[in-house]
This record gives sequence, C-alpha cells and structure tokens, in this order.
Amino acid sequence: MANINVKDLIRPHLLELSPYSSARSEYTGNEGIFLDANENALGSVGKENFNRYPDPLQRTLKRQISFWRDINIQKIFLGNGSDEAIDLLFRIFCEPGIDRVMVCPPTYGMYEVCAASHKVQVKTVNLTAEYQLDIPAILENLDENVKMIFICSPNNPTGNLINREDIKLLNNSFEGIIVVDEAYHDFTTEPSWLIDLESMNNLIVLQTFSKAWGLAGIRLGMAFADEAIIQIMNNIKMPYNVNTHTQEVALKALEKKREFEDKISRIVEMREELKKELLQIDGILTVYPSEANFLLVKIENASYLFNSLIERQIIIRNRSKVALCEDCLRITIGTKEENLSLLKAIQEILHGK
Ligand SMILES: *Cc1c(COP(=O)(O)O)cnc(C)c1O
Repeated sequence: MANINVKDLIRPHLLELSPYSSARSEYTGNEGIFLDANENALGSVGKENFNRYPDPLQRTLKRQISFWRDINIQKIFLGNGSDEAIDLLFRIFCEPGIDRVMVCPPTYGMYEVCAASHKVQVKTVNLTAEYQLDIPAILENLDENVKMIFICSPNNPTGNLINREDIKLLNNSFEGIIVVDEAYHDFTTEPSWLIDLESMNNLIVLQTFSKAWGLAGIRLGMAFADEAIIQIMNNIKMPYNVNTHTQEVALKALEKKREFEDKISRIVEMREELKKELLQIDGILTVYPSEANFLLVKIENASYLFNSLIERQIIIRNRSKVALCEDCLRITIGTKEENLSLLKAIQEILHGK
C-alpha cells in the first residue's frame, strides 16, 4: 500500500533503542592520530591497513553504489551477504511467535530457514503452474499478522521474472513489507524494482555481489529501502559487519563495470546455447525460460541423472523434491568447457554414448 507509515510496522522496542556507538562512528575524519579504538598501532601482521577497524557505515563504497544504482545513500544498507539483510528484516518487523511472513514456493530456501530461526511462522502459498504469484490465494491467506511477503524475481530456482503488475496488485491490498529479492537482476534486461522505491515506502529490494559480479567469496549484499528502515538496520547490525577487505574489493570491482557487463552477456549467451543443446537430448522434457545464470530442467528420473553426474564429479542442484519442481534439476551456467563436459556426461548417462 503506497505511503503507509513504515514506523508503525517496526517492532516498537527498536524505535527506542540507542545504538552502539563505535569509536569509528564518533570521529569520521581520515587524518589524525588514532588512539581511540584500541587497535594495534605497530601495524598489522596481515595487509598494511588491516590493523584499523573498517568504516562501520561503508561510506566510500556506498557513495559509489549510490552513483551506480542512482539511489540516495540514506536508502542503502550493506551487509555480510544479502542473507544478513534478510536476517535483520525478521528482527525488525517480526515479533517471534506472533507475526508471520508469507513465502511463495518454489523459491529461495533462506526465507523459511531464517523465519524458523526467529520463531516466526511462515505462511506458504505456492506459485501457479506458470511460476507466477497466485494472487487470489495470497489475498485469501493474508491476515493482520503477516508482516512481510518475500518475492524473488528472477526467481530461484525457476529462473523467471515475477509479473510486475501482480506485485503492484498485491501492494494495493497489503499493508506490510514487500521484499523483492533481485539477486539475479543483473542477468535480466527488465527494469529493477529500485525505480519503485520512491512510490512504495514498504518496498525493500535486495541485491548482491555474489552472482553477476562474481564475488560470492567477499560476502557483500545490498538492501535498498525507505530511510526509516535503513536507519533501523544500521542501528541493530553488528558495528563492523562489512570488513575492510570486502569494502576495498567491491570498490575496485565497481571501477570495472565493462568487465562486469561483458561477463554477464557471455553468461546469458552460454545460457541460451546450453538450453538449445539440452533440448536436443532425448529424455529432457523441458528447459524453462531463464532470466538468471542457471537453468531449471525437467527430466525423467531426475534423481538418477543427478546421482550419476555426481559420480562423474559434476555437481548440479537436485530440486526434484521441491513443490512444483517434480523431476527438476537446476544447472548453473559454467564455462564453455564445463557446459560441454556436462552435456557429454548427460548423453553418456542417458544414452550410453
Ligand atoms: C544467491 C542468492 C542470494 C545471495 O545471497 P548472498 O548472501 O548475498 O550471497 C540471495 N537471494 C537469492 C534468491 C539467491 O539465490
């Protein structure tokens, strides 16, 4: 619902909490003799500047992300992967044992795991057969205790975008938080939900450096939302949640947007190639359309193929026990050579050649 007061959704005790004030947030200059944080003045046994605590609010990095995504710094939260942001959102909006969230399977598993760890009940409403939101069923299952709805677009593991109009429709009848997880957004040409942040103050958009940027190892996730929400996220996060190395690597990466774009177009190209090749193989029933860096493939005896591939040290994801994904396997796009090895192995396993 446009322009609800998000402060009314935040757990009241958090509005009154006075955040930990770290040494580095009290004095923010770069120059000086720093004797305030009990760091080791003789230096680091690792990289030169690692004896110093990182910027708790990652200001330099946020400035660059703000230029890149054209979003005000006050609307950006950075965390130790987007998983940290997901965890914080439960702490901010959900009273354990009382409030609930809605999740639409098949989708990313972390929402439910995180809910369980916070003792927050999950209402699930499966996607439709076309892997879109089942709006009538969602509306039927909403009640005043449902505080957040998680929507993943492009969706993991199905690969498709969730219809924009459906999310808008949902927004018209829901007075809680809508989280749109855009971990795979960089692989699509459709606009991000970031353009709706101004008109929907209950919208939270999640993005990450783990997929298209190829930086899963540095653990850096982004949340974009109304200033009031970002403020609370910053107040309750661990003070130095994004380490110095991660901030430095991400800053360097943001100077290489050409390389980033190139990698994305190559992956998208290989995705379409792999899809075509897979469809040539007898026994492969469907390769679903994908806007991400993976393909969902329906195949007879999926678990047999999955296990046989593992014997050949080719590891893909078995989703065949997941709602609406019967006999489905999820395959991440690899290098050209890896994709060829995969195709060859599937041929051999299914047809002995
Ligand atoms: C991979 C993935 C993430 C990324 O999580 P990080 O903690 O940022 O690595 C988030 N959401 C979905 C749906 C994903 O598939």
